[in-house]
Formats: sequence, structure tokens, C-alpha cells
Amino acid sequence: MNNSIAFSSAPHDHQHCIDAALDEAAELCARRGVRLTPLRRRVLELIWDRHQATGAYAILDALRHENHRAAPPTVYRALEFLSAHGLIHRIESLNAYVGCIRPDHDHAGQFLICESCGATAELHDEEIANAVGRGAQRYGFRALRQTVEVAGLCPDCRRRTGTD
Ligand SMILES: [Zn+2]
Ligand SMILES: [Zn+2]
Ligand SMILES: [Zn+2]
Repeated sequence: MNNSIAFSSAPHDHQHCIDAALDEAAELCARRGVRLTPLRRRVLELIWDRHQATGAYAILDALRHENHRAAPPTVYRALEFLSAHGLIHRIESLNAYVGCIRPDHDHAGQFLICESCGATAELHDEEIANAVGRGAQRYGFRALRQTVEVAGLCPDCRRRTGTD
């Protein structure tokens, strides 16, 4: 499990986060009988590169410098695959992706997004999801998917800008 580190600013061995995420992805794909191809794996690794949302262009750019000569549609398909299997979440407000800290089970995504540096942390709070679901129900609305994106300042940027 690699969810003990909320924000990248907290000192930790990030390689451990990456390794854990890739191991979990491999395990999950094997269990579901789907293929984590080298490209899909590499895209996931690039997204986990930092605790920050990564855009499709940054991924394409990184791949262009490697042997994977992936055309945009191929990369978009890899992103779709990773999303469909819950390995990454799409952050709508940034048009970018973050690695999921709990890909093993279905859940709503809740994110704290730093407006200053782009650091992103997943909350993973069932109570929020339930409250949104109940609120929707009151309006006779059946919620199928929900993503909560909260903009603000991460601990690092708060320190830097002296907003504490
Ligand atoms: Zn990390
Ligand atoms: Zn998640
Ligand atoms: Zn920040």
C-alpha cells in the first residue's frame, strides 16, 4: 500500500511508491486476466513519476525520448485501459491523470489539488462519497460516477508562501 504519503513534499522514498504501484497493477491485471503490456506499464510508471497529475502530452513527450514510439491514439488507449481498471484517475480540472492509491476496489475519486505546484493527493473517503450519493438521491438522481476535486495549497506551498 502506498497511500501513507499524501503529498510529495513529505520526505519519503518515492521509488517505493512507484514499485508498489507497479507491483499492484501487475497483480491486479493478472487476477483479471488482462495484459499489462510494456507500454501500459510504462505509461503508469510515468504517471506515478511524481505525486502530481500528469497530462497526456507530457506522457507522449517522455515516450518520444524512449524506444516506445507510441502514437497519440496508442497512448490514449493505454490511458483508457488504466482508467477502466481503476489504476489511474482522470483529474478533469487539470485534464491530467494521477495514479490511484487503491486500485483494488471500486471507489469515487476525491482529490486535493495544489493550485501552486500541482501536487495532488487522493482522499479516499467513503463518507464523502456516501454523502454525495445521499444528496443526489434526495433529488431523485442516481449517481453513477463522482469525482470531487478540491483546489488549494499543499503543505509545501503554504510554507513557502507564508499562508500558515
Ligand atoms: Zn511517493
Ligand atoms: Zn483511487
Ligand atoms: Zn503545492
